Amino acid sequence: YVAKKNHSGFVVYSQKLDQHSPHRLTLMGELRQAIDRDELVLHYQPKINVKTAMVSGVEALVRWNHGVHGLMPPDDFIPLAERTGLIKPLTLWVLNHALQQCAVWQEQGLKLDISVNVSANGLMDLDLPDTVAGLLASHEVAPERLVLEITESAIMLDKDRAMQVLTSLAGMGIRLSIDDFGTGYSSLAYLSKMPVKEIKIDKSFVMDMEKNSSNAMIVHATIDLGHNLGLEVIGEGVESKEIMAKLKGLGCDVVQGFHFTKPLAEAQFSEWLSKSINSGLIKTDGGQTTK
Ligand code: C2E
Ligand code: MG
Ligand code: MG
Ligand code: MG
Repeated sequence: YVAKKNHSGFVVYSQKLDQHSPHRLTLMGELRQAIDRDELVLHYQPKINVKTAMVSGVEALVRWNHGVHGLMPPDDFIPLAERTGLIKPLTLWVLNHALQQCAVWQEQGLKLDISVNVSANGLMDLDLPDTVAGLLASHEVAPERLVLEITESAIMLDKDRAMQVLTSLAGMGIRLSIDDFGTGYSSLAYLSKMPVKEIKIDKSFVMDMEKNSSNAMIVHATIDLGHNLGLEVIGEGVESKEIMAKLKGLGCDVVQGFHFTKPLAEAQFSEWLSKSINSGLIKTDGGQTTK
């Protein structure tokens, strides 16, 4: 915060940084409308299976197509949504659109899992399992196709409540993934009790692992840890073929990153998919490839 004393000794805050400033209130109101008016948009980034070199799934990442500010990244409005109770309708919007897209791929014969991020207060929503069940049913997508990415800090916010929500989601057959793994403060003992199927090593460890030996060691140890716990391990932030080769050598299961492609809007992602299908990079229902 930028605090300054004015002539009469009162502290005045810089308008732009104050949480209750007109700017923030405006943005909050706008976000509410953006959700109702479908001004949000999903971009898609593929996940590649290291052993088969095939696309196994897609992560949906939200952006806000703002009339004045342009295409806003999630880090600019998810924290606001988290603080203002808008995270529930936002999560619902994202799940609905991601599953709709997954259903379209399904109709095209594409076997692609869809990953959706659920942030802390989204996870604390006890209605989430029922909401997800309803959306899966209405889009006719099998629960096994859906991956929910959660963070360690979200789980630690309220362990009991998180465990309750996660247990019912997992019971439905939905896969749970721990995102940004290694950046939180959760205990490994606790994590091993969670019904999760995969961990995603945070990109801050992966991105520079060919230059930074301590990060390389962390990545190595995390892959072994995940495998010893029976989990699938994903490396995110793979920006080069050198890093791809390193991760492959360490036995990482799945990779994701700019080396393959940045997250793309639906039309561009479709093009990317077609190219991948033509080069045999993708699983189809045609029977040529199996999961
Ligand atoms: P995340 O879930 O860890 O997503 C990965 C982020 O890393 C994405 O940023 C992606 O564009 C970026 N990334 C992927 N590959 C590379 C790479 O090779 N190099 C680098 N430097 N970056 C890479 P993005 O799309 O800006 O999303 C940021 C965060 O916002 C996400 O991190 C996630 O925590 C959150 N988020 C995104 N969409 C949603 C959503 O629908 N709901 C919620 N609750 N959070 C979301
Ligand atoms: Mg994620
Ligand atoms: Mg991440
Ligand atoms: Mg994140």
